[in-house]
Amino acid sequence: MTPDTLILGAGIAGLSVAWRLLRSGQRVVVLERGEAGRESSWAGGGILSPLLPWDYPESLTTLALRSMTAYAPWVGDIEAAAGRHAEYWRCGMLALDVAGVDQALAWCTAHGMAAEGTPSRSFTLSPALPPQGGGGQTVWLPDVAQVRNPRLTAALRVAVEARGGRVVEHCAATGVRARGRRVTAVETGAGTFPADSVVMATGAWSGLGLAGLARAPNVRPIRGQMLLFKLEPGVLDTILYRDGLYLIPRRDGHVLVGSTLEDVGFDKATDAATRARMHAAAAELLPALTSVQPVQHWAGLRPGAPDNIPIIDRHPDFDNVFVNAGHFRYGVTLAPASAELLAALIDGTAPPLDPTPYRWQAALERRWGGGS
Ligand SMILES: Cc1cc2nc3c(=O)[nH]c(=O)nc-3n(C[C@H](O)[C@H](O)[C@H](O)COP(=O)(O)OP(=O)(O)OC[C@H]3O[C@@H](n4cnc5c(N)ncnc54)[C@H](O)[C@@H]3O)c2cc1C
Repeated sequence: MTPDTLILGAGIAGLSVAWRLLRSGQRVVVLERGEAGRESSWAGGGILSPLLPWDYPESLTTLALRSMTAYAPWVGDIEAAAGRHAEYWRCGMLALDVAGVDQALAWCTAHGMAAEGTPSRSFTLSPALPPQGGGGQTVWLPDVAQVRNPRLTAALRVAVEARGGRVVEHCAATGVRARGRRVTAVETGAGTFPADSVVMATGAWSGLGLAGLARAPNVRPIRGQMLLFKLEPGVLDTILYRDGLYLIPRRDGHVLVGSTLEDVGFDKATDAATRARMHAAAAELLPALTSVQPVQHWAGLRPGAPDNIPIIDRHPDFDNVFVNAGHFRYGVTLAPASAELLAALIDGTAPPLDPTPYRWQAALERRWGGGS
């Protein structure tokens, strides 16, 4: 059987496209080099919003707000199909030491995002920090949600299979066979897979391309280190952000601390100096972390693209090859809306939003750098 669509990469970008295409009746096979959902989509934090949303280009905001609105029912459908929970939690985010609070609040109002300069609730923070009830340099975003990203990708994989999709692990795509402007099959170490259309969702590895596809999207790996702590449940009940560092509570008492932005190629090493620096900065915000050691320290490779704007487009050289990659810091957040846009491009239906900013060519014209 030739599947309608062959998807390369079983991270959140590939699995969410598979889920979306299955819902419109397509047959789908996902090829994964390693194990499904074990790269960036596992390593990240699962915050469902840009960190300081007012810091980003409007095209990132458009995609993010569309996804954030869709997220709760999207996760609900996946959970129902999979029979598993992904721990979607609208826990809010408190941003501290924000420069230009008035402009940030005005941006939130203009974009329909709930925000308070004087939080209407209190928080368990370090006594060394300024009181959080009195306004100043604080922005409280009560509607920001999070999801337990490893559980979401695990649920997505089960949901995809429950709907008749196939996920083939330990099956790296190495090249394509093409006839004119159409790819007819994808070659892997485990054989050749025929395809009507192909989606490249190979995360940080998308920029490496494939044999037979001369051009690759403008994506490169950006390493992020994360620490994981275990406290009693309830010690922290909101996301905290200050000066590039964030703390994410999980319902069971785990607290994630992230992250670094390191342009070091395909290297997932961690280092003791970063661990000590992040631990000290996190304990400044949450004193309960002072006397405990991280239970885990890891690094993941984000699929970096200029300005954090993903590439959701057709390949310039092939009519039936598509790309859903380069979601950089916000691939978990952007998953539902990105999959919706890509599915419209594949189906040839009206795109749900203007696709221009996410074009292959637009990414080539942007400069690297920028974004908090
Ligand atoms: C430390 C850190 C913190 C983050 N925090 C957040 C956050 O709080 N909120 C948020 O929204 N986002 C966050 N992100 C970003 C988010 O995790 C990524 O943008 C997202 O996971 C990218 O998904 P992906 O499917 O494109 O990539 P991946 O999850 O990396 O999946 C790509 C898959 O393709 C496979 N693959 C590669 N080459 C091939 C091949 N040739 N053949 C077959 N398969 C192949 C890989 O093995 C991999 O499984 C964070 C990322 C990191 C690293």
